[in-house]
Amino acid sequence: MVEHLLAKEKVAGSIPVSRSLFLFNRATSPSGKARLCKSCTSGSNPLVASLLDVIFVHVFFIAIRCFLMRSPHSYATEAIVLKRTDLGEADRILTLFTPGKGKFHAVAKGTRRPISKLAGHVDLLCRSQLQLALGRNLDIVTQAEGRENFMHLRSDLWHMTCGFYLAELVDRFVEDQTQHYDIYTMLLETLRYVDADAGALQQQREKATPLTPQQEEGHTRLRLRYFELHLLMAIGYEPVLANCAYCASEIRPEENGFKAALGGVLCPQCSRHWERRLSLDALKALRYMQRSKWSDVARMRPDARLHAELEAVMYDLLRYHLERDMKSWSFLEMMRNV
Ligand SMILES: [Zn+2]
Repeated sequence: MVEHLLAKEKVAGSIPVSRSLFLFNRATSPSGKARLCKSCTSGSNPLVASLLDVIFVHVFFIAIRCFLMRSPHSYATEAIVLKRTDLGEADRILTLFTPGKGKFHAVAKGTRRPISKLAGHVDLLCRSQLQLALGRNLDIVTQAEGRENFMHLRSDLWHMTCGFYLAELVDRFVEDQTQHYDIYTMLLETLRYVDADAGALQQQREKATPLTPQQEEGHTRLRLRYFELHLLMAIGYEPVLANCAYCASEIRPEENGFKAALGGVLCPQCSRHWERRLSLDALKALRYMQRSKWSDVARMRPDARLHAELEAVMYDLLRYHLERDMKSWSFLEMMRNV
């Protein structure tokens, strides 16, 4: 049989089967004759031999194709680092937020060592291009290249705290392994805005221009409210602002109430359910932020009283949905009083 095929290959210049035939014979039995009939082994049936020849070649190429089409062991993605937790002596677990896979955790090995090449590229809030290897439990960051580091934001304590607050909001409210491209884009745009705001304020300070507390944090503070509101809307917790959340009657332009547990604004007739008063200015501001793009909202200039009221209402909503306070709130409050 073997001689027959080799002769065929040599003479006709047909498909090179000697290798595949050799492998087949090895796999079937040590003698190479276990599955061959007498006529084949004696080389007396060229038709059967040719058929086997074709089958062997097909099996061989199918095996190669399966090997090449196996799922890859690694993948590349862009990510914003939301959180870092120490692991062992030198490693860290990163909470990553990506445009395609949503939020997930990965191991960055050796990033707590001073000589680590990865460390500078996987800082908190850093937007990086990562290469990850599939792991048994958690994927492993094998390469990282920082794309945006938000340096202005990092050089100002108030703005840096705001950046960490944004990351905490996403970490708490977004489920793992769920794609949220809209929230990813919103987080990135907000970080860029806060970074630019911090840069503009630093320039003003360098010119020795005296700044009021309102100028110091006004724009970023409004941007935080806008982000909170639109984050809740993106995950299905949009507050009710047009009608009473209890009796559904239309909200009139007057002082109303608010209760996060009932989902939004309450009319004066339902005042027994009010958790806090809601001024007409605050209601207008919330409605405007709810339906407008940031480019329009950025033109708003709320005074300190309105800022405080909007913040209180949004904190009520976030606390109700989260069932606890955010860690960053106490830091933001501390920064404001410095
Ligand atoms: Zn009502």
